[in-house]
Amino acid sequence: MDLSDIPIVDQHAHNLLRPEHARAFAYPSAFTEGYAVEVVTRHVQETLFFRRSMREIAELLGCEPRLEAILETREQLSFEELVRRCFQAAGFQAILMDDGFMPDQVMPTEWHNRFARTYRLLRVEFLAERLILESPTWQAFEEAFRSALDHPGSEVVGFKTIVAYRTGLAIEIPDPEAVRLAFETLRQQAVRGERPRLVRKPLNDWVVWRTLEAAARHGRPVQFHTGFGDPDLDLRWANPLHLRPLLEHPGFQRVPFVLLHASYPYTREAGYLAAVYPHVYVDLGLAIPFLSHSGMAFVVRAFLEFTPISKILFSTDAHLIPELFYLGARWGRRILREVLVATVEDGDLTVAEAEKAAEAILQHNARTLYHLG
Ligand SMILES: [Zn+2]
Repeated sequence: MDLSDIPIVDQHAHNLLRPEHARAFAYPSAFTEGYAVEVVTRHVQETLFFRRSMREIAELLGCEPRLEAILETREQLSFEELVRRCFQAAGFQAILMDDGFMPDQVMPTEWHNRFARTYRLLRVEFLAERLILESPTWQAFEEAFRSALDHPGSEVVGFKTIVAYRTGLAIEIPDPEAVRLAFETLRQQAVRGERPRLVRKPLNDWVVWRTLEAAARHGRPVQFHTGFGDPDLDLRWANPLHLRPLLEHPGFQRVPFVLLHASYPYTREAGYLAAVYPHVYVDLGLAIPFLSHSGMAFVVRAFLEFTPISKILFSTDAHLIPELFYLGARWGRRILREVLVATVEDGDLTVAEAEKAAEAILQHNARTLYHLG
């Protein structure tokens, strides 16, 4: 079984850092979710992901498999040439980009179109923070937020929420008084010239609630950050099982919920939800390529234990540097192939069914879900 010819639809990734910001950025920090100095300068190099990645990046760039040699070779290439090599080797058909991560320091989404067809995912917390700056009253904010969700622009194919990072996935019915109070507090910060940060649970929950309502009106999927991430996250509240009240809500039955990052380490929990709720989907990003070889194989196997093939989506969650796009695509194909070959040996699938499953996970499921035509 050969998956190298299947062009990938990467259903969740982030914009590349601008070269001037990339220069100020420690290269190894792109290989860890930690940001403590000791992690970035020392411990990350002790991970299996880092060790494996250095060898593979060196092979792609034609240099010695040492960090210093890779950095030297990168310096000799233009930014565009480096991106072109990584993206060509990755073989993308389309990439859905959440451009709300480090928005002041990244290349515009349209810029990436020269390497692969890109679409936008609208990060709703970033949108809300921007609109708090611009809205003098609650009423103005509420109207602006609704209008932005209803008319997000033709390139937007889905919404993305990082509520798991901010106040957790145990989302409650927002109390109108508490929501307004949270808005007033953040608005006063904005008036004082501070950048408002959406970390007040009533308002965060309200933002997700309104997003789901807009998603229901327009048939747009909503991507939820679930599972592991950087230490800004309280992992206890990133378990997708907390989403049950929203998944059961009659108004949201037609909204596709996409659980990102294999919800790792809550992978089986996510797989269960996707198996029993028709509108829940799971995704492999970040788990591939950040885990060890056996860790990546585990998440694919864990989903295939119980989750329908039609509910499994592929992404790289690549961010900051182009090498992560290459590594995500390379390991996505390789791990999927290994696991699917084993399903044939086990007698779960025929060869033809396994080949179809690979196409579905790498491409077709996302094309269908986001109506990519
Ligand atoms: Zn992401």
